[in-house]
Amino acid sequence: MTVKDIAALIEEFAPLGYQESYDNAGLIVGYPTSKVNRILLCVDVTPEVLDEALAKEVNLIIAHHPLIFSGIKRLTGANYTEQTIIKAIKHNIAIYSAHTNLDSVWNGVSMVMAKKVELQHTQILSPIPDNLVKLAVFVPKDHAEQLRLAMFDAGAGKIGDYDQCSYNTTGIGTFRAGENTNPFVGNKDEMHLEEEIKVEVAVPKPILSKVVSSILKVHPYEEVAYDIFPLLNTNPRAGLGAVGQLPKPQDEAEFLKKIKMVFNASCIRHTKLLGKPIERVALCGGSGASLIKNAINAKADIFITADVKYHNFFDAENKIVIADIGHFESEQLTIDIFYELLTKKLPNFAILKTKVNTNPINYI
Ligand SMILES: [Zn+2]
Repeated sequence: MTVKDIAALIEEFAPLGYQESYDNAGLIVGYPTSKVNRILLCVDVTPEVLDEALAKEVNLIIAHHPLIFSGIKRLTGANYTEQTIIKAIKHNIAIYSAHTNLDSVWNGVSMVMAKKVELQHTQILSPIPDNLVKLAVFVPKDHAEQLRLAMFDAGAGKIGDYDQCSYNTTGIGTFRAGENTNPFVGNKDEMHLEEEIKVEVAVPKPILSKVVSSILKVHPYEEVAYDIFPLLNTNPRAGLGAVGQLPKPQDEAEFLKKIKMVFNASCIRHTKLLGKPIERVALCGGSGASLIKNAINAKADIFITADVKYHNFFDAENKIVIADIGHFESEQLTIDIFYELLTKKLPNFAILKTKVNTNPINYI
């Protein structure tokens, strides 16, 4: 396996196109073609994690947070980021990150948090707008099946919990092949009529180019006719945060104690308890204060997130309990996401979880 092969497995689950514009997910350090023997998983890459990688003869570190976030003009070891980069390059250790793309996909960070809290009927709290396009491809009848399968394989045609969704209509396509062509059917300089199928599928924009490439690989025509239409539908399977129901209403204070334990949090900062049981729960891994309004609109009784600023707490307005459990605490499950994903695909591969606690925040 190479770094590129492992990256492809992660990106099949969390395509890089889902990352936010400010993000820097993907391969951060190392050659895509380097061979990988052992993988180390972590939330943050620190010099201690790199020492652990060296001791355990790891050659690929997969982290949630990108080691490099903004431009670096020189590498002199002036800070922990530069020291880590230099050491990684010296020892031929590649560093890869799946960050906001891992937050925004179905079964990403917040959905996994929701499972830990045992939420049911979980939905995305803030679905990404303008995420979907409709792709219509015209293909000779005998090649429609192969084309559909290629598109489904590339991730097209998913609606809710259904996959392989498409709509197919039969019609007659016409074309006349020009002088420099080599037509699959028909003759040069003659109009040809061909019985074709129009295959229509919904495709999330972040994987559109992958789906189009899959079409071009299997379509028999030299010039493939396809249309891409923007859709106004919201994709309920992509976006930030999650919201769901508890199996039974729970007392507020008891529920806070429970999440403190579940997320191994030393401290939870929260707004005033409202004196009513918790039934509907919204959560967002990492800095989720921008979703407080979404949580209120989703009628959640509590919003669990991190990095909530003093003034953000006022936005609860006695409508919701806001609970800040800590950034690392809310995102430590990313290690489990990587682990489950990779061990399923590579059952005989050495995949290790870091033993280093990289949380930079301590409490007394
Ligand atoms: Zn984070």
